[in-house]
Amino acid sequence: MDFALNDEQKMLVATVRRFIAEHLRPLEDEVEARGQLDPQQAQDLLQRSRALGLYGMNMPAGVGGGGLSHLDRILCEEQFGHTTDILIRRAFGNVYEPLLHCRDAQRERWLLPAVAGERTCAIAITEPGAGSDAQGIRTQAREQPDGSWLLQGAKHFISDAQWSDFFLVSARTGEREISMFMVDKGLPGFTLGKDQSMMGLRGTPHMELFFDDVRLEPQALLGQRGQGFKLAMGALNVVRLAQVGARAVGKASHVCERMLGWAQERRQFGSPIGDFQMVQQMLADSVIEINAARWMVYHAAWMLDQGLDAREPIAMVKVHAAETLGRVVDRAVQVFGGMGYCRDLPIERYYRDARIYRIFDGTSEIHRGVIARSALRKGAALFDPAA
Ligand SMILES: Cc1cc2nc3c(=O)[nH]c(=O)nc-3n(C[C@H](O)[C@H](O)[C@H](O)COP(=O)(O)OP(=O)(O)OC[C@H]3O[C@@H](n4cnc5c(N)ncnc54)[C@H](O)[C@@H]3O)c2cc1C
Repeated sequence: MDFALNDEQKMLVATVRRFIAEHLRPLEDEVEARGQLDPQQAQDLLQRSRALGLYGMNMPAGVGGGGLSHLDRILCEEQFGHTTDILIRRAFGNVYEPLLHCRDAQRERWLLPAVAGERTCAIAITEPGAGSDAQGIRTQAREQPDGSWLLQGAKHFISDAQWSDFFLVSARTGEREISMFMVDKGLPGFTLGKDQSMMGLRGTPHMELFFDDVRLEPQALLGQRGQGFKLAMGALNVVRLAQVGARAVGKASHVCERMLGWAQERRQFGSPIGDFQMVQQMLADSVIEINAARWMVYHAAWMLDQGLDAREPIAMVKVHAAETLGRVVDRAVQVFGGMGYCRDLPIERYYRDARIYRIFDGTSEIHRGVIARSALRKGAALFDPAA
């Protein structure tokens, strides 16, 4: 086993880290205060990132992306965790993997402009009546005699909806059949509802979508009819590892660095608070858990690069990394004391932003269910490469 990063990987991480420190972190407070990112600043970020080849890095080189391995992508995503969601979206893109199923004219219209940063997309699966049970959706697409579709239904909690030019929408195309469609904003009958105000992730809109007999051309169908659930779940598996697992590790590392700094700087009873063993326990537990989570993330990415089925390891990563982040930010508030709760410092923001990690892309309970069922079937050695 070789646990070392090569020189290219170290350079990639250093480039992303520098970009975030120079261009994104300075915007965080303003986004938090205003609740939105200025569109001109967003455009500047996109141009700078594209100039360095950092936009759409998760996509293959053949369609204009970065052509990174899963492990390389994960290394970048870990760095993304050091800043806020909306800044990552605008600077590095959020190009969803199912778009790689685009064929012929679909590529020119949806895939290539998304990778180039000319069109932004969002993914719309969740509905008011169907969250964890993503197969319980009610949104329907009815095929018409001329091959077009009529889309009827509603979605909610759709991240980045306001900025997005088109949406990957899951819809029922038969009683037991779910398909995925590419739906352009602005089509007659398609309206955006309210921005659903969230506890954290300030600056990223999360919106309702309403479809009232929206007519979709035949080419709006992505992949095969009836493949929609498979497409969505396949994509979300990688998204979960990257945008939840790796970013949670990055975010927890960032918070932990600040906590370590504060433990050395803040003095009470004549000593730095980091000299007190009860504070040291919080620091040590955080460092142990973050490092364990990091290797779980890297290992799952390595498995994907070997072409291995990583669904179970990714479910474990999702739970462990998200819950590690939760524990680390909670300890950070404690170590910072009143300043951890006070809006003069960003610690309370990290605390709010972290909470969603246990909920989106499959809740901890759903993933624990997946892990338990697999373990009951295959035994604990399921996760032992030497077994
Ligand atoms: C900030 C934010 C951004 C989001 N972005 C998007 C997006 O871009 N696109 C999109 O499609 N969706 C998005 N979502 C939706 C998100 O994926 C769902 O909120 C999530 O899947 C949980 O669904 P739910 O909220 O309906 O909760 P529910 O499914 O109602 O779950 C409620 C509780 O019941 C538990 N539960 C449910 N079923 C089981 C079970 N079988 N066993 C044990 N416990 C169970 C859950 O774990 C949870 O604790 C977003 C949500 C938020 C809050």
